[in-house]
Order: sequence, then C-alpha cells, then structure tokens
Amino acid sequence: MATIFDKVVLHNGVEIPALGLGVYKVEEGSQIDETIKNALHIGYRLIDTASFYMNEEGVGRAIRASGIPREELFITTKVWNADQGYESTLKAFETSMEKLGLDYLDLYLVHWPVKGKYIETWRALEKLYREGRVRAIGVSNFKIHHLEELLLHSEEKPVVNQVELHPLLSQEDLREFCQLHGIKVEAWSPLSRGRFLDEPTLKKIADNHNKSTAQVILRWHLQNQIIAIPKSVTPSRLKENADIFDFELTQTEMEMINALNQNQRFGADPDHIDF
Ligand code: NAD
Repeated sequence: MATIFDKVVLHNGVEIPALGLGVYKVEEGSQIDETIKNALHIGYRLIDTASFYMNEEGVGRAIRASGIPREELFITTKVWNADQGYESTLKAFETSMEKLGLDYLDLYLVHWPVKGKYIETWRALEKLYREGRVRAIGVSNFKIHHLEELLLHSEEKPVVNQVELHPLLSQEDLREFCQLHGIKVEAWSPLSRGRFLDEPTLKKIADNHNKSTAQVILRWHLQNQIIAIPKSVTPSRLKENADIFDFELTQTEMEMINALNQNQRFGADPDHIDF
C-alpha cells in the first residue's frame, strides 16, 4: 500500500516525495510555523517555497523546530525573476540559504523562463549542483520550446518542471515531452486554488469512493505520476489532502477527469510574463 512517505526517483537518483506542501501565500510568522508543524506531523516531507513567497525564514525555523532529521526532509526553493542571470542567481541562492538556515538544499528551481536570461541562470544552477550545494536542479513554468532551448545549451538536464497543472489544464503534450526526457512533472495549483471542486463529474467520482473532490484530483495527479504540492493552512484540509493513499481511481474515472481539460490557465502564461 502506498503512503505519504512514498518517493519518486529523479533522473539523477535523488528521491522526492510523491506529494508535498506548497507554501505560497502562507504568511511569515505564526501562520507558517503552525502550518509546517501540522503538515510535518501529518507526514508531509516536501516543502515547496520560493524567495518570492517571503517565508523562507519561517520554513527554516519550522523545520528546525520539528526535530525531524534533515535528510528526511525535501526542501525546494526558487530563484526569482529579478535575480536571474549568472552572478545574481549565485547571490540569490546564498540569500535563500541564509534565510532557510540550511547547509544544503534539495531542489533549486528557475521560477520562470525569463527571456534572454534563463540559460545564464541555469549555468549558475549547474555550478551549485556540481559543488554539492543543492541535490537537484530544475525549472518551473517552462513550455516545450523553453525546455528544447535549455536542453540545447545545458550540461545538466532539469530533474523536474513545475508547472500549473490541474484537470482544467492537463498539459498532456508537455507531460509527454517531459516523460520522453526523464523530467518529472510537478503540479502547482494542483487544485486550481479550489475553483473547480463542485464540478459534477468530480463529485460523482468522489461519491464513488467516499472521498472529497480535492482528494480525487490529488489522486488523479498521483496516478499520473505527477508530484502535486497543494497548499492549505487549515489543519483538516492538510490532513484531507494527504489522505489519498487508500483508494484508486479506475481507468474510466481517470479518463473522465482527463476529459475535463479546457487548456484553461488561472496563472500567467509563461510566454507573456511581465513580472
Ligand atoms: P492550490 O491548487 O494548491 O490551491 C490552494 C487553495 O485551495 C487553498 O488556499 C484553499 O483555498 C484551497 N484548498 C486546499 N485544499 C483544499 C481542500 N481539501 N478542500 C477545499 N479547498 C482546498 O494552489 P496554489 O497555492 O496556487 O498552488 C500550490 C503550491 O504551488 C503553492 O503554494 C506554491 O508552493 C506552488 N506554486 C508555484 C508556482 C510557480 O510559479 N512555480 C505558482 C503558484 C504556486
């Protein structure tokens, strides 16, 4: 039986939990402390932050307070757009590490494919990886053409591509491309920020299993080998989102969810970012 402690093996051999906690918009201070404390207690081991989220210090503080051995945790952070470029990325990394209070990072991501910059940014990530400062390096919000460009100009291949992905935006072409290249897909806004939870097809499937629609969506990610990082600060929802390892969607149910795709983004289109 699979559990929340299940791992996925990245192409460099490093293992990443199959489900994690995203902490975008979790406030620095008592909110991040409490949220991470509750999540770790439930069994979450992957925490996804970013310098942009302004809560790296809280993430570091909360994981230290937990007493859980560092090697059991998987911490991701990201280099923000304004810091992209070779030297500035190296500097941004040091700032993040200082805030997190860690001596190594598990996964460092290029947050968005900033035009004209991301190849240089990637060179900095390659250096950090080779020096052992970070166990794995990856990208976020890369479309196929960004990945093609990166693969042409890189020595290390990204281990993951973290993108907006949920039943309304199933990203099948991108997933296929990533699979072909051994790049794992990580879903941000895996629950489309709760916008779609009363959709009738999902409700029907949820009823079949005595689960919530959020659990059905997260199970759909899991069965698609997509690493989901749902966010919640509510203890009951943190628990609910982690309680997806005791049921299985049938092939027909998976296809019913696949059919909900409308290529609908709620976040920015990576080709048109102005931030
Ligand atoms: P999400 O899909 O995880 O939705 C979170 C929201 O859904 C919560 O605020 C809550 O309102 C609701 N929710 C959560 N669990 C629920 C439940 N069981 N029942 C009902 N409602 C529930 O969206 P997100 O926060 O945008 O994405 C998750 C994480 O992805 C972020 O915290 C962040 O770590 C990451 N992210 C990355 C990028 C990027 O550019 N790389 C962008 C956005 C988010």
